Formats: sequence, structure tokens, C-alpha cells
Amino acid sequence: MNTQDLSAEMLRTNWAKNLAYGADRIVVPTTVAETQEAVRSARKVRALGSRHCFNDIADTTGTHIWLGRLNRVLTLDRAKSQVVVEGGIRYGELGPYLHEHGYALHNTASLPHISVAGAVATATHGSGALGNLATAVAAIELIDADGDLVSLARDKDGGSFAGAIVNLGALGVVTKLTLDLQPAFTVRQDVFLELPVATLQAHFDEIMGSGYSVSVFTDWQGDAAEQVWIKTAVKPGDSFAARDSFFGARPATRNIHPLERLDALHCTAQMGVVGPWYDRLPHFRMGFTPASGDELQVEYFVPAEHAAAAIGALHRCSDMIAPIIVMGEIRTIAADDLWMSPCHHVPCVAFHFSCRQDWPALKDVLPQLEAALAPFDVRPHWGKMFTMPPETILSRYPKAAAFRDLLGAHDPSGKFRNAFVERTIFAGV
Ligand SMILES: Cc1cc2nc3c(=O)[nH]c(=O)nc-3n(C[C@H](O)[C@H](O)[C@H](O)COP(=O)(O)OP(=O)(O)OC[C@H]3O[C@@H](n4cnc5c(N)ncnc54)[C@H](O)[C@@H]3O)c2cc1C
Repeated sequence: MNTQDLSAEMLRTNWAKNLAYGADRIVVPTTVAETQEAVRSARKVRALGSRHCFNDIADTTGTHIWLGRLNRVLTLDRAKSQVVVEGGIRYGELGPYLHEHGYALHNTASLPHISVAGAVATATHGSGALGNLATAVAAIELIDADGDLVSLARDKDGGSFAGAIVNLGALGVVTKLTLDLQPAFTVRQDVFLELPVATLQAHFDEIMGSGYSVSVFTDWQGDAAEQVWIKTAVKPGDSFAARDSFFGARPATRNIHPLERLDALHCTAQMGVVGPWYDRLPHFRMGFTPASGDELQVEYFVPAEHAAAAIGALHRCSDMIAPIIVMGEIRTIAADDLWMSPCHHVPCVAFHFSCRQDWPALKDVLPQLEAALAPFDVRPHWGKMFTMPPETILSRYPKAAAFRDLLGAHDPSGKFRNAFVERTIFAGV
């Protein structure tokens, strides 16, 4: 399963290449013992996943440990419907294995190229009445600052487990994850074009609830959202009534990329063609790059009860958004109990923006977008760009102090803390 092959040069920057990492040493271990040794001998250290974060959350001035060679499935426990994987596996490697063995994950992100541990660490999510990807974690094993292995399980470690899962990479190097599974299922994907924004606001819950996972793509220009992608779980023999209209939107007549001018070859199959969950829940296919990387992503979470008002607030920012936007996406995520999850105890709507890679322009616009969403208790995605003051962000995380204590217990000298964590989590402490 060792399909990852990143050169030393690739490991020096993030995927979008907007950030050159500051690591003075890169270690690519092939065993857990080697990983422990790398942690023990490091002054500062960070695990690196598939490098898909846009900000400096994964950065370090010390040792980067890339786990891409520790990417095996270790155990499939049929009695518990759980799988145990190594800390470097990516969803695109795990999905086909699970499907072949009769199992599925509850959801995926828009792309399968990301590592499970990296996605879990930042509360990465898909869409639907479904928790983020971290909610599938039942247990983790990690290497703490002393190089010792620590195991935490949902059914025996309660509070500290809820704090340790969305860990922003600051708790240690995750070497094993146990994930909850469900029986394998198949999905069809249908795309509709030009959904009126007023209709989306008026029927938000109905529209977002009209499939297993629903995404609305919009560049916030004009009065209609460009595309609605509806992913419907189907069983063999299910009948499916094709719609010739969806809340005023018309059906697409061919496979389509969220950016209509780009080739849909990179996208998972649409037009109602049924396929395995791992090849329909993501928007992009594993064998293809989702984009050139010439972008910066931004995403804000707002409690779902404010969805219509927040859409109105962003729609009123359309002139401000126009110069920076490539494409935006609206998704929903269920509430969870993970301390540093943006959906901690509250179901959310997430407003994602793929933007041109122009940070000087973006950093002038983001404070205005954040101000527009401020009345709705907005929280940023941990792995994307934002300009919100740390104090404001932390005020929306009631367990932030407990999370700091947890980091202190596992890493008293702050070996895993980097500039992002110091700035964002320890602000004013
Ligand atoms: C094209 C594209 C599409 C995206 N789509 C989505 C989407 O649909 N939904 C969404 O929510 N986000 C999305 N993202 C954001 C992405 O999912 C997150 O940034 C995620 O964290 C990426 O995982 P990674 O493995 O690349 O993490 P990295 O950037 O490598 O690392 C992220 C964090 O995880 C930590 N980490 C990684 N591995 C380990 C480990 N083994 N042990 C401990 N800590 C670890 C790192 O230290 C770092 O703090 C997208 C990003 C891109 C570039």
C-alpha cells in the first residue's frame, strides 16, 4: 500500500506552495520505534501529514516527521466494526480497502488525497447531517514529548479523549487511529445548476437535507448559486425518481467540475451513475489532482440556526468577494463533543472559499468577511487562512483552557508547540 512518494524537496513546502516550512531536519521513519527516537532527539518537532493545510499549523522550526511510509491498515475488527490504521495513511488508500472488505467510513472530505491523522487533527469535514471526520475516531495511539507511546480510547478516557482528537498536531505524533465503520454502501451523484440564493435561504434545511451529503457551490456573484451536488446513498434495487428541477435549479446534462470551465475528468462521477462511497462522497478522484494548488482556502463555521442570515450577510459582500474568489462551497456538519472542533456541541454550516493565491489582497478582505459573520459566532477552519484575533476565536471554544492543560500534561516543555499554536491557542495566557 506504499503509494506515497514525496521527494525531500516536496516536503519543504505545503501542497499549495504558499508556505515554505521552517524545519531544520526532515525524518521519514519506517517504524514506530524510529519515530519515537526522532521525537526524543528533537528540540522542536511536528508530524507532517499530506501537507494540505494552507496556514502554518503544520510548521516547525525543528524536526518534521513525515509518516507517509507508515500507511498500512493494521487490523479490521469485524466484531466491533472498526479498523486500526497507521498514522500516515490517506483516505484514498483506506477507502478502496474498506469497500473491498464490506465497510465504509461515514463521510469524506472533498478530496481523498489527505492523511487521516492530519484531517482528524484539524476537524476536517464533508457535508451532510454527519459529524466531521474526527468523529469516526474511537481510539488513538500517539508518541508524547518523551518519546513514549500513549493510548487513548473513547470508551475509557472520556474527557481527555474528547480533547485529544482534534489536537491541531500539538499533542504528539499520532501513530495509530481506530476508526468506526459502517457497512459498505453505494452512492449516486446528481448535479443541478443555478439555484436561486433566495430559495436556498428560504429552504436551507430541506435543500441541505435532500441527500446523504449535499454541497452548494457559489462564487457569491449574482442571485443564483452555480451548482448543487446531491450525493444519495442507494441500495441495489432502489428506485430513484430523477428530478427535472430542484428548487428552481435545472439538472446538469453532463459531468461537471465545480469550476465549470475545468475538466470534469478530475471529479467523481455524476449523472446518477452509482459507485462506491469512497469514489462519490469526495468531489475529486484519487488518481487526479483536485486543482493546480495555485489557490488559498478560507472556511468559516457558523451555527446552522443562522444559515439563512449568514448567507444573506455574505451575499451582501459579493463586491468585496469578487476580486479574490475562485469558487465557494456551502456544507453542513453535525454537532460533536470534541473540544477543539468548530462544531463542538453545535451543528454548523460551513462557508468555504477557494481564493486566488494573493495573500496581500486576501488579508484585506478577510477581516471584512469575518466582521460580516461576527454576529453568528463564527469560527475559522484550523487548516485554512483567517485573520480573526485569537482571543475572539478562543472565546468560542469553552474547552480551550482544558485543551491547554492537556497539551501541558503530554508536552510540558512545549516541544510540539509551534508558532501557530503559541499565537492561536496560548494567546494572552
Ligand atoms: C484541495 C484541498 C481540498 C480540501 N478539502 C477540504 C474539505 O473538503 N474539508 C475540510 O474540512 N478541509 C479540506 N481541506 C483542508 C484539509 O483537509 C486540512 O487542511 C487537513 O488538515 C489536511 O490534512 P493533511 O494530512 O494534509 O495535514 P497537514 O497539513 O500535513 O497537517 C495538518 C495538521 O495535522 C497534524 N498532523 C498530521 N499528521 C499527524 C500525525 N500523524 N500526528 C499528529 N499530528 C499530525 C500536523 O502537525 C498539522 O498540525 C482541503 C485542502 C486542500 C488543499
